[in-house]
Amino acid sequence: MDLDQEETSPVVGVLEGIRAKVAGLGGGRVADYIPELAHAEPDAFGIAVVSPHGRAYAAGRSEQTFSLQSMSKPFVYAMALEEHGLEVVHEHVGAEPSGEPFNAISLDESGRPENPMINAGAIVTTSLVGDGERGVRSEHIRSVLSTFAGRDLAVDEQVYLSEAETGHRNRALGYLSLSGGVLVGSVEAAVQDYFRQCSVSVTVVDLAVMAGTLASGGVNPVTGERVVSQLTARHTLSIMTSCGMYDRAGEWGLRVGIPAKSGVSGGILAAAPGAFGVGVFSPPLDEAGNSVRGVAALERLSEDYDLHMLRTPARPHSPMHSVTRSGDSLSVLLRGEIDFLAAEQVVSRLAEAVEDTGVTSVTVELERVSGFSEAARSLLAAELEELADAGVGAQVKDPRGVHGS
Ligand code: GLU
Repeated sequence: MDLDQEETSPVVGVLEGIRAKVAGLGGGRVADYIPELAHAEPDAFGIAVVSPHGRAYAAGRSEQTFSLQSMSKPFVYAMALEEHGLEVVHEHVGAEPSGEPFNAISLDESGRPENPMINAGAIVTTSLVGDGERGVRSEHIRSVLSTFAGRDLAVDEQVYLSEAETGHRNRALGYLSLSGGVLVGSVEAAVQDYFRQCSVSVTVVDLAVMAGTLASGGVNPVTGERVVSQLTARHTLSIMTSCGMYDRAGEWGLRVGIPAKSGVSGGILAAAPGAFGVGVFSPPLDEAGNSVRGVAALERLSEDYDLHMLRTPARPHSPMHSVTRSGDSLSVLLRGEIDFLAAEQVVSRLAEAVEDTGVTSVTVELERVSGFSEAARSLLAAELEELADAGVGAQVKDPRGVHGS
């Protein structure tokens, strides 16, 4: 991967500032229920962001590796969605926040795990992917996770063995899901492949690129490769929003408001749609299993740099570059991306001009338009048809064919 990591940039300064602010925060405990995780260094801290243009910025331990753990779950969910579509996946795993810890026995009345971000749901999701044959599926998952990261990722065999030796609760969740009729194939195969996806080794920069791929509608912002469809990326971000932070998803929405997923290794990845992918790492966890300093860092990043996804968006520029009248004719030169909101401004302006000035011909010029959404296209077409019905000559000048009709 040709990663353009900026060394000296005010953005790096921002990340350094966040690191300095959260470094002294105490509290939390390094996870030790998977014995290998207990070796993590409590003071290690790293943070990285990747822009939609593929530029990466990092501070702290940007090269330190740790295991993906539950942060693998959204990506494997995305793989299941790509393979089967939402409706089929939904028959096997729900989409409601459970409000319970990640390893809870959380199945709904029909025996389906509540969502794909808790272990039961993640194990079922893994069972839906590709070929259940030993080795084939886990290699497929590792390779798609690598495409999300834009570089070849490896499984940390020590973490995998440690988890495989001790993960009996996960086996139990697998068997419960099998008895509910939602796990496909063998429980042991699904659980083993789940352990392997959790043991994939990453850095904070990898997390930021992986999150950035979801934030950019499924296209890796660094390699430019499409990894999943735009719809799959949206579905995955939706699940991360409602269920990504264990039983703290609601509070996360209030304080951070960026779709995210945390893992018990101390990592958090967050994907601000259309904007940044973020990765943070700091091993000590709070009672909910989220990295204490990771949560604090993301709260700061969201607050100080206005990244909450429900902030009121800035008023877009007018989509009309110019409106000129000559005699009985009106000419409107549009610009930029025309979405439903922009098209609403254009059609209301056209209707107003015809009504107020009595023009008898209208031309909409599109040479400066970069794109049209489907909704905008049909709104404009309907307005032009209405004008024509009212006896106003209406035409579109579209030399580059952006309007497509
Ligand atoms: N592999 C871990 C487990 O199943 C993942 C837990 C997590 O990161 O939340 O216990």
